[in-house]
Amino acid sequence: MAVPQNKVTKSRRNMRRAHDSLTAGNPAECPNCGELKRPHHVCGACGHYDDREVVAQADEVDLDEDAA
Ligand SMILES: [Zn+2]
Repeated sequence: MAVPQNKVTKSRRNMRRAHDSLTAGNPAECPNCGELKRPHHVCGACGHYDDREVVAQADEVDLDEDAA
């Protein structure tokens, strides 16, 4: 098993971790449904992008119940 050659001090460890924090996203409201969505992404709630529906919603798709 590989063993670290030198002790990493609390100071050095913490300095390394100083850049590890996560940054918050920048959610924007969907103009169609008002749900928060990622900018430049299709709305996950209604499937709209740029005021058009580009992804059909699950409840609008006709599923064959006998197939499953
Ligand atoms: Zn939406």
